[in-house]
Amino acid sequence: MFQAFLLKYGEIFLKGKNRYIFEDALVHQVRLAMDKVDGEFEVHKNLGRVYVEAKSDFDYDEALSALKKVFGVLTICPVKIYENDDFEFLKKEVVEYMDETYPDRDGLTFKVFCKRARKNYPLNSMEMNMAFGEAIIMNLDGFKVDVHKPEVELHVEIRERIYVYSILIPGPGGMPVGTAGKAMVLLSGGLDSPVAAYRIAKRGVEIEAVYFHAPPYTSERAKQKVVDLASIVSKFTGPVKLHIINFTDIQMSIYEKCPPDELTVIMRRYMMRIAQTIAEEDGCLGLVTGESIGQVASQTMYSLACTDDVCNMPVYRPLIAMDKVEIIDIAEEIGTYETSILPFEDCCTIFVAKHPVTKPKVSVIAHHEERLGEEINEMVKKALEEREIVIAR
Ligand code: ATP
Ligand code: MG
Repeated sequence: MFQAFLLKYGEIFLKGKNRYIFEDALVHQVRLAMDKVDGEFEVHKNLGRVYVEAKSDFDYDEALSALKKVFGVLTICPVKIYENDDFEFLKKEVVEYMDETYPDRDGLTFKVFCKRARKNYPLNSMEMNMAFGEAIIMNLDGFKVDVHKPEVELHVEIRERIYVYSILIPGPGGMPVGTAGKAMVLLSGGLDSPVAAYRIAKRGVEIEAVYFHAPPYTSERAKQKVVDLASIVSKFTGPVKLHIINFTDIQMSIYEKCPPDELTVIMRRYMMRIAQTIAEEDGCLGLVTGESIGQVASQTMYSLACTDDVCNMPVYRPLIAMDKVEIIDIAEEIGTYETSILPFEDCCTIFVAKHPVTKPKVSVIAHHEERLGEEINEMVKKALEEREIVIAR
């Protein structure tokens, strides 16, 4: 029955120029989301609201599910829009709206909230509230007015057109992607990094991603799994540019020349260095990982200090203080869980030591890294040159 959605974003701190940046980014992201939904839609902003209007047949649930993934949307309201502002006509429509929207309404309480943005409209808000309320009670059985705690809040807004809505569906909140700059996510096939990507994007950060694989020790399927995860994340973020780095030579070299219990930390330092080079090339303002304190040996505060030591741009770790169960909850909610738990080997698990250091010292690690010699820089250069780029969407 609905042909349109009204999107509320209510971030009250938005002022002046920020407001336009926010709104334009939101409209852009809503359009990207609706492009994937069957049907034709028009998306536009007007006076602090964004409207999505269907110009053809469409699937309501599909459209709603796409809108629920657009960061910055606080509330989604399926809305009826009228051009005709004749009050008697509207009264009839409002009654019909309530009848259709709430077929099972035995004792359902409601209150009417009219807003008159057009001050020259013949009735004021109070008069309209009364008249619509009365028309509903008189014409439909089962409704009761409750002005204090109504179960249904019926909104009728007289703007350049007339908007009628009463259903409020929570959106994801956050900020529209693209309002906060860009960051490079280190995306593995695990549970954590896709959730980290989702969480940082929710604050308006556009993302790119980098994945390190080690063929033939890691399979094509492990790589496909990461591409799939990037595609799932892209439903929230828009298309994700994924850089795939062949890490085999670098990993082998570390394995051969450095102490086995330091392998993971040193490997992680090389991942950070490479990620940072690409990040700088592509205008990213920071790196993002799925690390959480104490989750594994390479994520103690000592180990994190060792990885940070090689970075000269900020490293964002949205999951740093979260428990695994909390991370899993989000993974399930956003739909990455099933893919993340597929059992394909990760490049880190192939060579890992039985007892990795849990308290590495930056100076010791840096010293041992020197054993890698000049060749390691050549390997890094080659890995960067030969990288594969996939656009996940
Ligand atoms: P995840 O579930 O994200 O794989 P994890 O619990 O397996 O995390 P680690 O393997 O220690 O943890 O990795 C920590 C972080 O380092 C990951 O969250 C990710 O950001 C990055 N990372 C690890 N391996 C890779 C990889 N092969 N490619 C890209 N990034 C990686
Ligand atoms: Mg992992």
